[in-house]
Amino acid sequence: MNQRQRVEFHASCGHLMSAPADRAEQDVRCPHCHQVVRAPSADVPYASPVLAPDPAPAGAAEPTALTALYVTALMAGVLGAALVYLVMFNEFSESELVTITPLWLFPIVFGLYGFVSQRLLRRIAAGRAGTLGQAARMSIDVAGLWAAVVLFPFLVLRWRSSLLVSLAAAVFWAVLLWLFFALLFPTL
Ligand SMILES: [Zn+2]
Repeated sequence: MNQRQRVEFHASCGHLMSAPADRAEQDVRCPHCHQVVRAPSADVPYASPVLAPDPAPAGAAEPTALTALYVTALMAGVLGAALVYLVMFNEFSESELVTITPLWLFPIVFGLYGFVSQRLLRRIAAGRAGTLGQAARMSIDVAGLWAAVVLFPFLVLRWRSSLLVSLAAAVFWAVLLWLFFALLFPTL
């Protein structure tokens, strides 16, 4: 029997209540007065089966812990960069500055992509896009083609988790920057 099918009935306590159809002829607790009442069998005339409304689309909202993670990563990255370039600049050699770049760049990129992918996921949850790729394309249409440079992970990857996409994008940009420095300063 469909678990979501519910039977609405007037309980012996006088309240109108509903119970899962599979609880027919069993004791259920009235949510209004908390008395234990007997649910009618599903085929009695006044017990009308009604379908419970659909729950919110799965994956609509990601846990707020993830948002907190992105904020923390972003702040840690910015703080790290400020520390390296404003406070401890003279303590590092050029090659050391390059080597530690991914350490602060990675959390910044990770945090930013986390924000963006949560935004895109909300677009999916609102029914305005079917996939992250479609949602990203909507942004590219609005912002222009340059946005594709930033949003391409969403076009390529078919994941629905902001965490996975953000990690992949952050690794990509950190490695790219590291390669850029390595090519720019081959002597380092
Ligand atoms: Zn009651």
